Amino acid sequence: MHVAKTIAEYRTLRSGLAEPVGFVPTMGYLHEGHLSLVREAAIRCRSVVASIFVNPSQFAPTEDLAAYPRDLERDLELLENEGVAVVFAPDEQEMYPIGFDTWVTVEHLTSRLEGAERPTHFRGVATVVARLFNIVRPQIAVFGQKDAQQAIVIDRLVRDLGFDIELVVAPTVRETDGLAMSSRNTYLEADERVAASILRRSLLLAEALHADGERDAHTIRRAMLELIESEPLVKPIYVSVANVDTLEEASAIEGKTLVSLAAQVGKARLIDNVVLPPGESLVERN
Ligand code: AMP
Repeated sequence: MHVAKTIAEYRTLRSGLAEPVGFVPTMGYLHEGHLSLVREAAIRCRSVVASIFVNPSQFAPTEDLAAYPRDLERDLELLENEGVAVVFAPDEQEMYPIGFDTWVTVEHLTSRLEGAERPTHFRGVATVVARLFNIVRPQIAVFGQKDAQQAIVIDRLVRDLGFDIELVVAPTVRETDGLAMSSRNTYLEADERVAASILRRSLLLAEALHADGERDAHTIRRAMLELIESEPLVKPIYVSVANVDTLEEASAIEGKTLVSLAAQVGKARLIDNVVLPPGESLVERN
């Protein structure tokens, strides 16, 4: 496995990679969720490239950029074990050199859900992902459903800017109690870690209500919120039942629907989601 710290180093390696090239962008501190994306890329591609970059522009000044967990050595070992061909691990100067002044904004989709709470977040995500796509030059890119709005925004970006890249969205990998794996779970104290499983249970409740025929979005939101609020260590930020294509809040569940939530649990801001009806994919394959 090669590690490229600069764009120039990567370019040299890229010319020797067997195609198709699959790409998995990450912020590091890898867990099984990230590795499942690598495996998904490996099924479809002859070479897998992963990137590790904690992207400052997607964090607001009040957020956890400095505290974000990092362990490059361990990450490289995990990726090597997965048979990754190249890891692109640039520093901040390489990604945002002096004079950097071009930003990518996906408009409407980013005003909702995570974007409503974190107004500059998706501008940072879209910009770094567009830059990484141009540097890495993959045929396929794999993202996790865990960050559902991010996958939807990247799908829009790929279509709108005409990237010749197939987007694959892989299922959320969970701990045994259902908590979605996240690098941020390391912020949780033991009691908070136990309490956080209520988030998954609230999504399962939404699925169960839907399976019983409930189609009123407000009823589902309220039931989820009541369950989450029964756990004092978990502070809901939002519970959403929205149309998958527009991310507008739904009144009735018709067609593909994204049920998503964000909650503060101690120092960790956690997100999770399911798509209804179960088994539906988040984005259509292009
Ligand atoms: P991050 O390092 O948090 O920026 O995540 C990098 C990629 O891994 C994104 O596409 C995430 O959606 C994906 N990811 C994060 N957590 C999980 C998980 N538990 N299961 C599947 N994919 C995940």
